[in-house]
Amino acid sequence: MTVPDKEALRRKYVMERDKRLRPDGNDQYVRLTGRLAHYLDDPYTPRDPREPKTDHVTVAFIGGGFAGLVTGARLKEAGIDDVRIIEKGGDFGGTWYWNRYPGAQCDTASFVYMPLLEETGHMPTEKYAHAPEILEHCRRIGKHFGLYDNALFHTEVDDLEWDAARSRWNVRTKQGDAFTAQFIAMGTGPLHVPKLPGIPGIQSFRGHSFHTSRWDYSYTGGDPSGAPMENLAGKRVAIIGTGATSVQCVPHLARACGELYVFQRTPSSVDVRDNRPTDPEWFAQIATPGWQQRWLENFTANQTGGLAEEDLVMDGWTDITRRVRSRIMAIPPEEFTAKRMREAWEDSDFEKMEEIRARVDSIVKDPETANGLKAWYRQLCKRPCFHDDYLQAFNVPGTHLIDTDGKGVERVTETGVVAGGREYQVDCIIYASGFEVGTEYTRRAGYDLTGRDGVRLSEYCADGMRTLHGVHVHGFPNAFITQPTQGANLISNIPHNLTEAGRTVALTIKHALDNGYSEVEPSKEAEDAWIDLLLSGKPLIERPADCTPGYYNNEGRPSPRARFSVGHPQGPMAFFKHIAEWRTTGDFQGLDFR
Ligand code: NDP
Repeated sequence: MTVPDKEALRRKYVMERDKRLRPDGNDQYVRLTGRLAHYLDDPYTPRDPREPKTDHVTVAFIGGGFAGLVTGARLKEAGIDDVRIIEKGGDFGGTWYWNRYPGAQCDTASFVYMPLLEETGHMPTEKYAHAPEILEHCRRIGKHFGLYDNALFHTEVDDLEWDAARSRWNVRTKQGDAFTAQFIAMGTGPLHVPKLPGIPGIQSFRGHSFHTSRWDYSYTGGDPSGAPMENLAGKRVAIIGTGATSVQCVPHLARACGELYVFQRTPSSVDVRDNRPTDPEWFAQIATPGWQQRWLENFTANQTGGLAEEDLVMDGWTDITRRVRSRIMAIPPEEFTAKRMREAWEDSDFEKMEEIRARVDSIVKDPETANGLKAWYRQLCKRPCFHDDYLQAFNVPGTHLIDTDGKGVERVTETGVVAGGREYQVDCIIYASGFEVGTEYTRRAGYDLTGRDGVRLSEYCADGMRTLHGVHVHGFPNAFITQPTQGANLISNIPHNLTEAGRTVALTIKHALDNGYSEVEPSKEAEDAWIDLLLSGKPLIERPADCTPGYYNNEGRPSPRARFSVGHPQGPMAFFKHIAEWRTTGDFQGLDFR
């Protein structure tokens, strides 16, 4: 490959970024309330009326996705049986309950992505399992650990209030439940509130429309396992958005639709996927006791720049770090400075992105379409995608890339979608427009917490998130959060963060119960010290300022609160080591039990 003109690339990246910067940031999207609320209806499970709960449980967990499942499993293993998971969907699964669009599959290798494989004895059938298998695995965990017994589905928490006199939380839901829990834990995920572009006319469209996270198979035909969507034959379909979701479902739509219009504002970088079925003989060899923990640690070490002897997963994620590492290792010792390391990283990135752009040319036959599909930014500015059929879909007759050159679709009419001043008449609009990310946590969760002395969580974290280990919050006794931020912050494999947080939560609750404590809470000093440690770090490699806007950088409008959205200053490996040692010592440093 020829050496790229780095200055020209830098200028091009800035130019492309500038086209997309908008003053309205996150406000460019609309919430699905009022007349748009029907976009949130559950198309998968009918609602079953039930009597409201007014009882008491030991642990209430909000969210029935991976976070709730892995924490529930660890609680059950610890002998804590009285666990109630509250979930807004009609079953366990979280992301995998809602996202059943055709082609959905995990982007991180199943062996490290799917939690509790060893405990449940499941062998993923593919390196990157498809959504139905992952959803089934969620159900498997639920059954294996008895989590269905006390679960409340199609239930949304409305309010959580600490009752100091009785050392318990009052839990109220939109379904009329009003029960108490000694402990509450939350794992509501970062991407669960669908959003639509805030463009005029969405409500005027007279054809059919839905969001990708509520796929309407009754309209399209087919099913989540990839059966052909026969009802789309001869139909004109628009899909708005070209993020990770669109990349996975466009190949299926291209095969099914009469005409498919793919409306693009920013192209995704799409690298090689190389999926393959799992060989059971190979799996039997690797699946020796402790295998999944070894794989998790190996992936994290490779993906975050640690020095692992081998790379068990070997994929696009670990390739990114392998390349950067080898560039950095090639710097002569006398020139080893932070500046040279940043240059080495940039060189590696230019090389990778040039490869990804060359891949577009090698696959897409129409040169104009190929040009439109090239991503002009650094690979980690936006979510990297990996797919072996997406680019090929643009060679299918009837599939059209409508590149809006960074501007986005303008409006929706009664009969179609307008972009670049032209109306495209369609029968159906599919919104692959993503999920709310940069908005307030309490807005996305749908509830706030009222902790000790009536302080609300939204008030306490008004200037930025404050926790100990990303799990415990001062002033909110017996409450736990399971998520990556202020912990490992390992973005390439979220379940690893959740698995560790689940262990921490279960051990803490067990310690309180075994010793007759009614409350546990982090001290202010411990929480402050943790935040100081987090803020002391200055990553050698930061997301550059010339990144194109998206949810990774709050739509190009950095928020002052973002400085708190960090992980351990020495990286994910250091956090996982720290928290494992913290758990092993058994003295729960930083937590007050009473
Ligand atoms: P994204 O937020 O990544 O993508 C939304 C898309 O809609 C973007 O292409 C965006 O363009 C586009 N868009 C928004 N407004 C307009 C407009 N007015 N006109 C035209 N286009 C518009 O959502 P996704 O659902 O694709 O993915 C969300 C996240 O979910 C991923 O980043 C990933 O973390 C996760 N995911 C994971 C998968 C996996 O692991 N297998 C699969 C799918 C998703 P622009 O880029 O310009 O903002």
